[in-house]
Formats: sequence, structure tokens, C-alpha cells
Amino acid sequence: MKVIVQANRCQGHARCLAEGPDVYVLDDLGYNSTNIDHVPPHLEDQARRGALACPELALTIIED
Ligand code: SF4
Repeated sequence: MKVIVQANRCQGHARCLAEGPDVYVLDDLGYNSTNIDHVPPHLEDQARRGALACPELALTIIED
């Protein structure tokens, strides 16, 4: 699994982080700066929940 972050959509709500604290990373201004090539299997649920929680639809999950 992979997560694509569309930085131009991110508004810094931090809902992704609340749902996926071990997957998502925010920068100092609260914008998503996650750069992860491969989500480990045990974190896939967090990644999905975080993407679903994003009100800006800034996160896309690419399943393997
Ligand atoms: S929930 Fe969406 S808009 Fe908010 S910080 Fe995360 S990616 Fe950005």
C-alpha cells in the first residue's frame, strides 16, 4: 500500500494524524508532509482511516 498526498489540497485539519498517528506526519505549520513509499501491513488500517477522515480529499490510498 502507498499513500499519495496532494499537498495543494491539504488545509491542515490534522484529522489524518488523529486517525493515523503512526502513518501521517505534519510539518510545523500543520500541513501533511508524509512521504512514505510503502505502508507496512500493520499500519494499513490507520492509513485508510486517516485518508477517509480528510475533509479535503487530499489523501489517496493505492492498494498493492
Ligand atoms: S486531514 Fe487532510 S487536510 Fe487535514 S492535515 Fe490531513 S491531509 Fe491535510
